[in-house]
Amino acid sequence: MQETGLVDTFGRQITYLRLSITDRCDLRCTYCMPERMTFLPRKEVLDLEELYALARGFMARGIRKIRLTGGEPLLRKDAVDLVRAIGRHVGTELDELTMTTNGTQLAQHAVALADAGVRRINVSLDTLDRKTFAELARRDALPQVLGGIAAAKAAGLKVKINTVALKGVNEHELQPLIAWAHGEGHDITLIETMPLGVVDEDRTDRFLPLSKVRTELEAHWTLNASNHRTGGPSRYVKVRETGGLLGMITPLTENFCSGCNRIRVTTTGQLYPCLGGGERVDLRAALRSDEPEAELQAALDQAMAIKPERHDFRIGKGEAPALGRHMSVTGG
Ligand code: SAM
Ligand code: SF4
Repeated sequence: MQETGLVDTFGRQITYLRLSITDRCDLRCTYCMPERMTFLPRKEVLDLEELYALARGFMARGIRKIRLTGGEPLLRKDAVDLVRAIGRHVGTELDELTMTTNGTQLAQHAVALADAGVRRINVSLDTLDRKTFAELARRDALPQVLGGIAAAKAAGLKVKINTVALKGVNEHELQPLIAWAHGEGHDITLIETMPLGVVDEDRTDRFLPLSKVRTELEAHWTLNASNHRTGGPSRYVKVRETGGLLGMITPLTENFCSGCNRIRVTTTGQLYPCLGGGERVDLRAALRSDEPEAELQAALDQAMAIKPERHDFRIGKGEAPALGRHMSVTGG
């Protein structure tokens, strides 16, 4: 069979895969999941060989960048083995292998990740205040996370901090957080909270439009437009006073779908061509069929046929989340 690149019906070339390798997590960020989250039975989850077979199947179709995510990817005992396996393709089929992590396990694994070919890593951090962190993540893990970030830097990994901007929670701390990140040599991206999965709160109460944050930052700093792009939804500015890059992801206030180059696969092998849509293709069934390679390629063609033009996120008081699945399932 002739294998070609992945191009959807809107002509967008798909070169970036976000692969969720576990739905489990050691934190319980209030905007992400409820305290009593139900996790998948382990047999539902793809094993190491299946994940690696998937990665190879995607690389054969022109995927150049893979981000491992979750849940908390580093909770999986074989996470580093998977990184080593996929990492062998960096520099040939793959331009980049990276990860999004909450940082709690990073101190133990940073050197192994760097040795396996990871160059950049995203670490989620919403606050530098230990009490706020413990309330927001429902676990007192800030020192562990900061230790993980320091270990990543020491191992030579380029760190980008991801921060969800939350009204009344970290709203007044965003400027010091950005200054801290830039002082440490890290880029930082702010994210608007997205309506994914039911949590124990109404996200509308916490929704903070980044347009407002930007206006407030501009009262103190000069934000210069930057043409830095990572092929993702983040739009960057350079903060003159700190010299660092600040990204903003605004799914609710500004649509960015026309340049979308990515697809997501859940920990059970469900391919969601759009984070904000219900369309889905079952890659696990393909992988566990009698002709896994051919079935997988056919499933990828089907995914291209159904990738929607744009997401349909809305956030409104009392509105149920647009989608029942949590970010920890689809992979943030
Ligand atoms: N556990 C890892 C972490 O926290 O980095 C990886 C998975 S987490 C789902 C990936 C990213 O999604 C994190 O930066 C997190 O803050 C973000 N996130 C989770 N739920 C979200 C939501 N409802 N809206 C916006 N961002 C969300
Ligand atoms: Fe866990 Fe990441 Fe979700 Fe927080 S955002 S609960 S760290 S998966």
